[in-house]
Amino acid sequence: MAKMNMKRTPAAEQPAELRQTNFKEVALGYTAKEAVVEANRCLVCGKPQCVEGCPVGINIPQFISLIKEQKFVEASQAIKQANALPAICGRVCPQETQCEIKCVIGRKGEPVSIGRLERFAADYERESGANHSNGHSAPVPPSGFKVAVIGSGPSGLACARELRKFGHEVVIFEALHKPGGVLVYGIPEFRLPKAIVDDEIRQLQEAGVKIMTDTIIGMSYKIEELLHEGYDAVFIGTGAGLPKFLNIPGENLMGVVSANEFLTRVNLMEGYRFPETDTPVYVGPRTVVLGGGNTAMDAARCARRLGAEVTISYRRSREEMPARVEEVNHAEEEGIHYEFLTAPTRIIGNEKGWVTGLECQRMGLGEPDESGRRRPVPIQGSEFVIDCEMIINAVGSGINSLIFRDANGLKRTKWGTAIVDEETGATSVPGIFAGGDVAIGAATVILAMGTGKKAAHGIHQYLMEKHPAHQ
Ligand code: FAD
Ligand code: SF4
Repeated sequence: MAKMNMKRTPAAEQPAELRQTNFKEVALGYTAKEAVVEANRCLVCGKPQCVEGCPVGINIPQFISLIKEQKFVEASQAIKQANALPAICGRVCPQETQCEIKCVIGRKGEPVSIGRLERFAADYERESGANHSNGHSAPVPPSGFKVAVIGSGPSGLACARELRKFGHEVVIFEALHKPGGVLVYGIPEFRLPKAIVDDEIRQLQEAGVKIMTDTIIGMSYKIEELLHEGYDAVFIGTGAGLPKFLNIPGENLMGVVSANEFLTRVNLMEGYRFPETDTPVYVGPRTVVLGGGNTAMDAARCARRLGAEVTISYRRSREEMPARVEEVNHAEEEGIHYEFLTAPTRIIGNEKGWVTGLECQRMGLGEPDESGRRRPVPIQGSEFVIDCEMIINAVGSGINSLIFRDANGLKRTKWGTAIVDEETGATSVPGIFAGGDVAIGAATVILAMGTGKKAAHGIHQYLMEKHPAHQ
């Protein structure tokens, strides 16, 4: 038997010096030959640990075995049984902390590249034109029930897709003019091409999911109205898109923006293509991005591509950064500078009201906090100034409570997230369910999808119990 390669099969990337000047995709993915080589590293375990690490329970050994046999379309179909958005998840999931961290091969060598294989299979199916709509094997007879899904991010999309499998009619209401949530307004083109998001959403629409854009629930319609006007249940998947303030002097100066505002302009409004599009984007020649998550990385890398010298200031160390490791490394390769263990204390401006610098304080690391990460502790007298013309605030985001305005009695935590039953997504109000960031706080695409999927099962169970004649 040939000796197993303990190293992963590398995948091509756009060179760093080239990609920092364009918005084309950075990671280029496996060729068919590379995918088969990598798939052959998988032991196809009888009790696969990797599946336990996947929030939506993809049958990982099954789809990898199909890649080994060069049945690429079948591999993609197998993934879609559990995951409606494989080309997206293959690109943006933090696999290193989910399925791949559990892979047995990781005990002695590098784990199987599950994420890259997932992406390969989904891309292969799409590019070969053999796109079968989203794991729906046969049309299901209509159940007679109608469910409203609020928000078209990953949680809403996963919930909608699962509800269709039960034969329920599903309408998604989306506030923005384009469906996809963070996948379209937040994550940039160079990490997740929008054609791929559009294609996966198209497949959901072909499976019968209706999407109403430009409709803000809480303003255009109230949840109560939906329930009175023919919807049998409601799923809230409105995310956590409300920027958090820094609460330091100078925050109102010109040149200080929230990451969501900046990214929406660059991505959703396609400002990165200006002047081909109508959306100019301001970037300071020297830009500081505050934060250490995926949002901070995306904002920094967009600003870099738009011509800025970029510094990321993060109050903990590199090890504690919540961003995907690949993005942290990619950002560095693109010339982005890190200031670790640094917290902002004051924003300095000129007489015209524009930012000229950021005063920061050095931090030490204390005992772990409730998140398990070591708590940053300020070092007195360590203040210093980073000269800059723009500051992008990516320190976190919270829940926009507009959606809860009319949902009387819906219980929420002190952070504003909806309190839900973990297994069913049911809120304290019968018939109203929630999932994704609005229920679990800002998290990941796959966790949002996992909770959306669970809620779909919770909704189905609720509808069946309420109307047993349908069973
Ligand atoms: P969202 O994706 O936020 O979607 C919510 C949708 O609801 C939005 O489209 C919004 O317009 C709509 N909405 C809100 N209020 C209303 C209303 N009242 N009526 C109608 N519609 C409404 N996770 C990863 O796993 N990997 C990554 O690489 C990654 N990168 C990220 C980069 C950025 C910039 C950001 C911000 C997040 C990133 N995340 C990443 C996190 C991930 O995107 C989120 O956890 C996930 O999108 C949450 O999904 P959701 O469905 O709960 O909400
Ligand atoms: Fe393959 Fe690793 Fe999963 Fe085992 S744990 S089935 S080797 S990916």
